[in-house]
Amino acid sequence: MATQRILDFLATRRPSGPCLVVDLDVVRDNFRAFEKALPDSKIYYAVKANPAPEILRLLAAMGSSFDTASVAEVEMAMDAGAPADRISFGNTIKKERDIARAYQLGIRLFAVDCVEEVEKIARVAPGARVFCRVLTDGEGAEWPLSRKFGCVPAMAVDVLRRARELGLDAYGVSFHVGSQQTDLTAWDRALADAKRVFATLAEEGIVLKMVNMGGGFPTRYLRDVPAAQAYGQAIFSALRKHFGNALPETIIEPGRGMVGNAGVIKSEVVLISKKADNDNVRWVFLDIGKFGGLAETMDEAIRYPIVTAHDGGETAPCVLAGPTCDSADVMYEKTPYPLPLSLTIGDEVLIEGTGAYTTTYSAVAFNGFEPLRSYVI
Ligand SMILES: *Cc1c(COP(=O)(O)O)cnc(C)c1O
Repeated sequence: MATQRILDFLATRRPSGPCLVVDLDVVRDNFRAFEKALPDSKIYYAVKANPAPEILRLLAAMGSSFDTASVAEVEMAMDAGAPADRISFGNTIKKERDIARAYQLGIRLFAVDCVEEVEKIARVAPGARVFCRVLTDGEGAEWPLSRKFGCVPAMAVDVLRRARELGLDAYGVSFHVGSQQTDLTAWDRALADAKRVFATLAEEGIVLKMVNMGGGFPTRYLRDVPAAQAYGQAIFSALRKHFGNALPETIIEPGRGMVGNAGVIKSEVVLISKKADNDNVRWVFLDIGKFGGLAETMDEAIRYPIVTAHDGGETAPCVLAGPTCDSADVMYEKTPYPLPLSLTIGDEVLIEGTGAYTTTYSAVAFNGFEPLRSYVI
């Protein structure tokens, strides 16, 4: 949503070109809502969603921990004031020298999903805590994470056993139910798998301590989504159901849910045209597209709310596209986007819910277009 602070900023500063404006007050509210919804879970903000230093500093000061995927992200979290014991190296795909560097910086918590990665960690990060990621079906997620990360629960048992053999601390299990997950029962299925790994290893005397329940918490785009509180209740009941009174330590790693609704992109209509006189679908070209930060429109997965000064008037379906000379730079075509008939060239539009996964996805200078500028207020 465009908050009054964001609207005031745009009205007074009038930044030229497309830009993202993030309202820190909304990030603060989101952090508190997560704390309240899951009071026993530690929050590890997924840095990749939006690594703006102002956001990281705010969250570090509020006591957040951080989920990072590279040495650069580890350093960003540290520069923002997070001590090493509040940072997890959560990428399952790491160079051995990056593991060594993170270990040197004090990082002691690492994700794995195979024996090969465990062996790297054992070589350069002796005694570190590792958690093994298990696959999830990703059902119910608008941005599913496929089979790239994680292994089947039976293999997670072997991976954690090997970690123990190599002198590492076999610490727990992690999963990610898929991003923009609107099915509250997704965590239940994943927690059932996590519990099986706990139980099997317990029989061998390996006592796991932690379940990392990942991200997936949604942002409201065009449709309402359940509030953080509803997620908290569903997740807590699932934890009780599978772990009874022996509740493990838990972590959540919200990215989108922490910053998505805190940001708005201001964009400008560059061109409105048709492909034939009798076409009833207009093409609307913005000064931002897939390469300027809206990569999550890939396969039309994420549909952002678009606000114009003409809202309320009659609308017609439009193909929405970006400004670059790449034919893939089309956001919505299979399902055209309804926009006001009175929208004209030069109008500004606001693209809401764009605080997550935009600046980091923007190309450096494709066709000479600058990377997406961002203001954090
Ligand atoms: C990207 C990522 C997250 C954040 O996911 P959201 O769906 O944005 O909340 C959390 N954990 C890991 C390991 C990730 O890679």
